[in-house]
Amino acid sequence: MKRVRYWSVKNARWLRPVYQTLESGLVLLHPIFKRLGYQRVEGGFAALEKLVKGFLFDSQSCGQCTLGETGMACPMNCPKSLRNGPCGGVRGNGHCEVDPSMVCVWVTSWEGSKRIGDIESTIQVIQAPVDVRLKGTSAWLRAVRKRLGLPLGGRL
Ligand code: SF4
Repeated sequence: MKRVRYWSVKNARWLRPVYQTLESGLVLLHPIFKRLGYQRVEGGFAALEKLVKGFLFDSQSCGQCTLGETGMACPMNCPKSLRNGPCGGVRGNGHCEVDPSMVCVWVTSWEGSKRIGDIESTIQVIQAPVDVRLKGTSAWLRAVRKRLGLPLGGRL
C-alpha cells in the first residue's frame, strides 16, 4: 500500500535503527537456526518477512534487502528494478515515468536517506545487481549468515 510505504520513508529515522536492531537480534538465534537447519526455517521466515515488510515497505521480497541503505524505500518497486538511483525519466513532480500514480522510488529513497541523516551509509552505497534467483527467499536469514561470515551460496 503506497500510503504505508510513504509513511515508512517519512519515519525512516527511527525505523532504520529498529530494523537494524532486529537483524542484529536474529544473529543471536544462529545456534537455533543451525540446529534446526537454515533450509528448514527458510520458508517460515520468508513468509513472515513478506507479511511484515510487504505491509510496511511494499517489499517485493527480492531476498537481498537494501532497505537500511535506501532510506527504507524498497528499490524493487521501481518498474525498471533500478538499485542505484533513478532513470532519466523522473517527472517534474517527482513521480515515476512508468507509473505516474507513484512517487519515483529514488525520490522517496533520497527523502528517507536525508531523514536518516547519513547519506554516506545510505543512498551512496553502491548496490549489487539483483539476483532474481533469490526472489522469495529470506533476506533476514541471509543477513544473519553474512554478519557471521558464513557462506551465502544461492538459495539457503
Ligand atoms: S522514474 Fe524512478 S521509479 Fe520510475 S522507472 Fe525511473 S527510476 Fe524507476
